[in-house]
Amino acid sequence: VQIVQHYLQHIETKNPTLNAFLEVYENEALERAKLIDQKIAEGTAGKLAGMVIGLKDVICYANHALQASSKILDSFQSQFSATVVERLLAADAIIIGRQNCDEFAMGSSNENSAFGAVCNAQDTTCVAGGSSGGSAVAVQAAMCMVSLGSDTGGSVRQPAGFCGVIGFKPTYGRVSRYGLVAYASSFDIIGILAKNIDAVALVLEVIAGGDAWDSTVSQEPIAQYSQNLAWQGKARIAYIREAIENEALSPTVRTQTEKRLADLRAAGHTVESVDFPYLKYLLPTYYVLTTAEASSNLSRFDGVRYGFRSANTKDLASLYTKSRSEGFGAEVKRRIMLGTFVLSAGFYEAYYSKAQKVRRLIQDWTKEVLKNYDFIALPTTPDVAFKIGEKRANILQMFWEDVFTVHANLAGIPAISIPNGTNEAGLPIGFQLMAGAFEEGKLLRFAKGLLERE
Ligand code: GLN
Repeated sequence: VQIVQHYLQHIETKNPTLNAFLEVYENEALERAKLIDQKIAEGTAGKLAGMVIGLKDVICYANHALQASSKILDSFQSQFSATVVERLLAADAIIIGRQNCDEFAMGSSNENSAFGAVCNAQDTTCVAGGSSGGSAVAVQAAMCMVSLGSDTGGSVRQPAGFCGVIGFKPTYGRVSRYGLVAYASSFDIIGILAKNIDAVALVLEVIAGGDAWDSTVSQEPIAQYSQNLAWQGKARIAYIREAIENEALSPTVRTQTEKRLADLRAAGHTVESVDFPYLKYLLPTYYVLTTAEASSNLSRFDGVRYGFRSANTKDLASLYTKSRSEGFGAEVKRRIMLGTFVLSAGFYEAYYSKAQKVRRLIQDWTKEVLKNYDFIALPTTPDVAFKIGEKRANILQMFWEDVFTVHANLAGIPAISIPNGTNEAGLPIGFQLMAGAFEEGKLLRFAKGLLERE
């Protein structure tokens, strides 16, 4: 109860400025906390007793509102809980509220939300990052202990980097997507934001693993990640030369990244550069494939089945078009149009099918490198958090924010962003590590070792 009260108090004082939570389940959380206190006293409490968790507004929680920060889901309530939520509750976690994000998880700054931008707690004139901006700021500003976000192309790691917290993206298929609002189904994965690796590991071992409701979830056994967090020995680390030498990389991010690599070398790890010939294809491939999948996934929001319906309709066709035109925001519409275009009969071969082939090349290259190295290291983002409004007008500049994070989703591998110092103004910088598929245990151990050395 005291822990919940602590977070509620922070939410009360900070959320009005930061806009991280869309809804807070105050009474419910306190009631649950009392029950769990009792269980603790009786010695029957679950693994996550005392863990206070926030959910990005794309994860279903039965009988609670769910909007993907979109007007098109106005007044929609979920009738069921996502598998991850069921598992959290069964382990006695406490869900404290629903968190702001970019509409349908599309964005890199949390400015594409029907509920307004989230502010970075380090500097409230700066963005939180996106799309899980509310989830990152909630952890950053101690409004909850852990947040669950979703990561399609960096939406957990990029805001984590901007907010100075840990953002972890598991292997594709490690965690069930049942009850996660779909953006791009072959990329989407639920990820974890927290301030320490132990919390990430503990939550991961609870939510991961096979699920009859999602046929794409892997049946690979789940390790007891939290019981096995001591790193031993030396690692082999590859860093992508084209990323570090990239002219878009800000000088402070470059310096901090190079410093981190030098530290790793000094600690006796092998650190070598590799050439990645496909860097410039990452974003085009990502945006062709994800918009294609999104255009299909978002066709279900038709004004009939969920949430919002336009009031100015004459017939069925205008009900569909007006509800969608009025319900979706600009970025979501842009992606539906782009996706429809790349899937259309005349352009399918030139774009969609080509992008699938490039995705395979990226996957093969990555697998090959990870045969010789334990990790691939690179910055999380080219620069620190930018000013709210600064990049809204320039969509290509906004897409560029994801250049280092989409790689892991294209390849389907796990990746983590950990804090790596700040710039002169105190804005956090993220450092990213990727590992081979299903090597989340190794990744978490190594990241913990790095954070502890500081
Ligand atoms: N910023 C990226 C995008 O807009 C990633 C989003 C995500 O991971 N959900 O698509």
